[in-house]
Amino acid sequence: MATLYCRQALLPDGWAENVAVTVDARGTIGDVTAGASMPGGAVHLNGIAVPGMPNLHSHAFQRALAGLAEVAGPTDDSFWTWRKVMYGFLDRLTPEDMEIIAAQLYVDMLKAGYTSVGEFHYVHHQPSGDPYDTLTELSDRIIAASRRTGIGITHLPVLYAYGGFGGAAPDPGQRRFLNDGDRFLTLVADLRTRFGDDPQVGVGIAPHSLRAVTPDLLRDVLAENDREDGGGPVHIHIAEQTREVDDCVEWSGRRPVAWLMENADVDQRWCLVHATHMDDSETRQLANSGAVAGLCPTTEANLGDGFFPAPEFLKHGGRFGVGSDSHISVSVYDELRTLEYGHRLRLRQRNVLSEGEGRSTGADLYRAALAGGAQALGRPIGAIASGQRADIVVLDAERPEFAGRDGDQILDAWIFGAHQSPVSDVVCGGEHVIAGGHHADEAAIASDYRRALERLLS
Ligand SMILES: [Zn+2]
Repeated sequence: MATLYCRQALLPDGWAENVAVTVDARGTIGDVTAGASMPGGAVHLNGIAVPGMPNLHSHAFQRALAGLAEVAGPTDDSFWTWRKVMYGFLDRLTPEDMEIIAAQLYVDMLKAGYTSVGEFHYVHHQPSGDPYDTLTELSDRIIAASRRTGIGITHLPVLYAYGGFGGAAPDPGQRRFLNDGDRFLTLVADLRTRFGDDPQVGVGIAPHSLRAVTPDLLRDVLAENDREDGGGPVHIHIAEQTREVDDCVEWSGRRPVAWLMENADVDQRWCLVHATHMDDSETRQLANSGAVAGLCPTTEANLGDGFFPAPEFLKHGGRFGVGSDSHISVSVYDELRTLEYGHRLRLRQRNVLSEGEGRSTGADLYRAALAGGAQALGRPIGAIASGQRADIVVLDAERPEFAGRDGDQILDAWIFGAHQSPVSDVVCGGEHVIAGGHHADEAAIASDYRRALERLLS
């Protein structure tokens, strides 16, 4: 049992001073005591302690591509041109590359204030499309990177079986992703058996999108998942692009969110990633379902996706979390700021996503994204409270943006006022993984990462 101590902390009931937190040997919080004097032997977290943010949507290898698709194409440059760049890169990516890219990314995430990640993992096989000798080879690499860096992970193996709506044949660029239902369930079961007892690792499933499955396959895999697990997270890309919506309507007569609501039992276990294009009735249905909307504002802005109807969704009581997805940006404040600023620009208003008059927009966004992210990742995270994982981010109180700030003003100063990460220390699953702004393994990881990228991009 270890004890952490900090002068100021954001607890479920609000801000508290002189807080002692006990942590058991498995990294779970025992007691949280405010107004305590520093116990002997406690680790002093010198700064402002807040719950670490879950990053609910990541494709780790895409970090290596950040900035490589910013050259204008001939006409109609869109998501689909970016996807072409990504498919080309995948022809060369090895398991070692996958692991080192993920490790570098996860160090960057920890330094940015994320303490857990939902890894929506769809590259399963060799470049030829044949499975590796170990079916879970690339999943194992991702989980190895999470363990090396200390970040918590919900690993979400992706079911990708088709190239378009109605069971269209996949194109050659997709061959590393493909599994039928049986092989997919074998892969998931194997990961659950091997990692089920690790409190830093969760396993869920992710049907890639309605484009990549058929209704029968989706139903069968969900039924089997219910039998096996009964409660694991289910993530899906749902309505990112207007072309995807048009294709779905042509195929089924329904828009994607409406189709999913009619054909699957969407509840609190679900996370609908990029529910960007919804009409009013879909917005209300998704909010009422209790599922989490997985928002990735910097990626959605980078890809020119469009606006998620956040004000309307929140009015109906909808839940959301944030993810850095393609990792064009790896920053808690950038995601939340971009989300809010997008709607300010759209509506020509301020403080659009706060919960009402007199409330702090930054604090409302931060708390909502903690709760939604924790729900979507299906692990006990998102609060400094008994029974939760000890995932704590410490902000450097000496940074100028925090001067004279108190309580929720601290979160507003971080989310709207920071121009670099103010995170000084991070405790993740009870381990002190970032100390004084550094990870113990960061130099070795960075040099291996540079070497891998020089080869991959040469
Ligand atoms: Zn994605």
